[in-house]
Amino acid sequence: MDYFEYREGQLWAEEVRVAELVERFGTPLYIYSAKTLTRHFLAFDAALKGLDHLTCFSVKANSNVNLLRHLGTLGAGVDIVSGGELYRAVRAGIAPAKIVFSGVGKQAHEIREALSAGILMFNVESSQELECIGRIAQEMQTVARISIRINPDVDPKTHPYISTGLKENKFGLDMLEATGAYLMARKHPFLDPVGMDCHIGSQLTQIGPIVEALEKLLVFTDRLHASGIAIRYLDLGGGLGITYDDEQPPLPADLGRAISTALAGRELTVILEPGRAIAGNAGIMVTRVLYTKKTPMKHFVIVDAAMNDLVRPSLYGAYHRICEVTPTDRGLMTVDVVGPICESGDFLAQNRLLPALAPGDTLAVFSAGAYGFSMASQYNSRPRSAEVLVDGEKSLLVRRRETYEDLIALEVE
Ligand SMILES: *Cc1c(COP(=O)(O)O)cnc(C)c1O
Repeated sequence: MDYFEYREGQLWAEEVRVAELVERFGTPLYIYSAKTLTRHFLAFDAALKGLDHLTCFSVKANSNVNLLRHLGTLGAGVDIVSGGELYRAVRAGIAPAKIVFSGVGKQAHEIREALSAGILMFNVESSQELECIGRIAQEMQTVARISIRINPDVDPKTHPYISTGLKENKFGLDMLEATGAYLMARKHPFLDPVGMDCHIGSQLTQIGPIVEALEKLLVFTDRLHASGIAIRYLDLGGGLGITYDDEQPPLPADLGRAISTALAGRELTVILEPGRAIAGNAGIMVTRVLYTKKTPMKHFVIVDAAMNDLVRPSLYGAYHRICEVTPTDRGLMTVDVVGPICESGDFLAQNRLLPALAPGDTLAVFSAGAYGFSMASQYNSRPRSAEVLVDGEKSLLVRRRETYEDLIALEVE
């Protein structure tokens, strides 16, 4: 459920007309709904009530500091995958004790930064990384809490680019190697093996694979317990899917129930790392039609947003619902919605049935709050769009539109 809806013949973001935001801030424009973020975060929080738990928003889904601050005030922790995300999280006021650090390629300086900040734990993805963290913790004379990311070898049944828990993926350790890593960590004076984690993929539309992974992890924690290693945190990653088109993904409450059942009688703190499920449908991207064009094969609608603004359609063939900001009753046509970038892969939608559009019309691209702006680039020297956070009747510019000067600000002339 989100707070973008059509009323009085036009699209609203909460209590603000999208057309008004377009007038004020121009296009392309990302618009987020604070109320939707709150609702989605609280759904996870409520799903795990009764269990010790921490919901760590995955910063890579949407890393705007203002948005992180909003989630932080609700009690969210964060899952980070770089020193840059740590910097953002700290700036946003997220308590270090609620930060977990994932990612296969943590660099020494990032590990040092995270240890200085005093994060909750590192989700370790290789034996060499574990040794590296141990060495740095020793140098800094501080104990690093670690969790080993297990590759449970389950098929998440999602897009191959976003499935991460199969044995051919680069993520995590298999259980045999993980056993060695835990034993090494137990002996190390500056490593404290407190957790176990997994993240099997993204845009999951079934709960089965997560539960299957969870059960494998529980068997493993029992085995470790017998070797004197007591796991206190069980981090099941993110990955819950959202409705882009007609998917019917499980709800946080469904996941919560499955986890509660599986964990009955155990003293574990559960961590979840949702990104998409919190932010995805809390954001839209608005774009303006520049031209329409008919070729012998197709009708094209050329808009002012492109793959540099929202790459998901180009990268994954992802579907995003697209509708007029101010609906008309014009006849429907099958069109490709494309951007100005010099790549044939630059499209927002292909073979889409839309009302006949004309230059100047504005379109809302839905489900753009996760992996939208955070994956944006300046390709073709296009300044990145502005971002606005709406809260009730208020709207706050949380990132101004980039300028031409911004494009070359870091270049040495
Ligand atoms: C990307 C990622 C997430 C978030 O995934 P969503 O599908 O957006 O929920 C969580 N944890 C890790 C380790 C990730 O890499």
